[in-house]
Parts: sequence; C-alpha cells; structure tokens
Amino acid sequence: RKLVGKLSTGCKEFNDIMGGGIDSQAITEVYGEFGSGKTQLGHQLAVNVQLPQEKGGLNGSVIMIDTENTFRPERIKQMVDGLSELYGEDYDYEEFLKHIHVARAYNSNHQILLVDAASELANQLKDSDKPVRLLIVDSLTAHFRAEYIGRGTLADRQQKLNKHLHDIQRFGDLNNAVVLVTNQVMSKPDAFFGDPTKPIGGHILGHTSTFRLYMRKSKGDKRIVKLVDAPNLPDAEAVISVTTAGLRD
Ligand code: ADP
Ligand code: MG
Repeated sequence: RKLVGKLSTGCKEFNDIMGGGIDSQAITEVYGEFGSGKTQLGHQLAVNVQLPQEKGGLNGSVIMIDTENTFRPERIKQMVDGLSELYGEDYDYEEFLKHIHVARAYNSNHQILLVDAASELANQLKDSDKPVRLLIVDSLTAHFRAEYIGRGTLADRQQKLNKHLHDIQRFGDLNNAVVLVTNQVMSKPDAFFGDPTKPIGGHILGHTSTFRLYMRKSKGDKRIVKLVDAPNLPDAEAVISVTTAGLRD
C-alpha cells in the first residue's frame, strides 16, 4: 500500500477540514444543489493535481467522466491564469488541458464502462511523467437518477451504483489516485427521492464514499463546504469563494 497523497483544493480552510487536502485512495463525494460549486471544484482539482507537490499537487494527470456535458476548457484557462498570477509563473493552459482526459458518458451503462477505459489509460500512463492521480465522475448519479424511475427499480439501481462505486474505489487504490464524485440534491422535497438533504444513493453511497462533503451557496461568490462524514476527522465547515481565477479562501 502506497502512502496516501493529499491534493490541495487551493483553499486553506477547506484543506484544513480535510486534514491537509483531499486524500488519494479514497472516494470523496461532494453533494449539493445545482450551482453550489461541485463542477467548479472538479475543474479546480483537475488543474491543481498537475502541480508539483510543493504547490499542493500530485504531479499527475486527470480523467474526467463528464455525464452532464459541463466540462469547460475556457474555465480551465481562467484557473490556470489564476495560478500563474498566484505563483508569478507563466503556466501554459494548453499544457494543462493536455493532461485532462475528458470522457463524455451518454448513459449509466456507458458511464460504468468508462471506468474500465479509465483503468486502461491509467495503465498506459503509469510510467509517464504525468501518471493519472485524479478521477472525477461528475455527476455520479444523474444518469442513474434519470434512468431508474419508480420504486420497483430502486434495488436494481442501488446494486448497479454500488458495483460502480466499488470499481471506482479500486481505481483509486490501484493508481493511488484522488477520486471525486458529485451528487446533486434537490432544494425541495422530492416525492421519489425523499429527504432533500440526503443525497440519492442512500446508505450504499454512504458506506462506500470515504469522505462526504455538502456544498451550499452563501452570499455572493461564497460557498460553504461541510465535511459530514470522514474517517478520523471531525465534522467541520469551511467557507470558500468561487472566483473567476478559481477557488479561493
Ligand atoms: P454545480 O456543479 O454544483 O451545479 P457549478 O460548479 O457549475 O455548480 O457552479 C456554478 C457556479 O460557479 C456559478 O453559478 C457561478 O457562481 C460560479 N462560476 C462558474 N463559472 C465562473 C466563472 N468563470 N467565474 C466566476 N464564477 C464562476
Ligand atoms: Mg455540475
């Protein structure tokens, strides 16, 4: 077993509640309403992971399974420019973009298959100068939510999701990678999915994800990140800002 890596979010408070950053070899589930910043966090981590360790990165590349077509290269550019500003460097965003391997998932079965493809790519890049150190599944649950409708299919959905999560966990272990999965929750009570404060996936997701973060909007560009479940860490909250240059304190 390799030493657990820590990936910086770029925000001190946020890193602090996570014990220094987001752990590798674990699944971190971020849930929250639409617009709470889940995809922004994914983009920021996709940039940060490429940095050297002394700047909070893992000197690695990233695979992003994009299920909602929300990946934006322009946003990566803004964040890379933000880092250039922060560190007084002249980072080339095309270089960063090259190490973000985006795969669009068209349905839940395709999403499941893409984890195998991700493993293959990670194997190919294992001995390169940028091995895969981050896997993002954004959104983990959207396709499952859309496809499995009605009480009768709930058990089936949970079983599929459970196996999918185990595949994802295995990817994180084998590659000593950070794994971020997103899960949208409804602002209003939902007849089918029940308690809006509880992400879909229920118990099964609860047991499999090692870290669970609840994100919610605050004033202006501020977002509140709440750690609600973690091994050996207390529940805690951090305030971050989503700015054009990226995530900041
Ligand atoms: P989620 O994935 O949780 O639905 P997002 O991560 O897409 O939400 O967050 C969208 C929000 O991020 C926007 O409402 C805006 O506040 C912020 N945001 C997105 N792009 C930019 C940007 N270029 N500059 C500043 N803030 C941005
Ligand atoms: Mg999103």
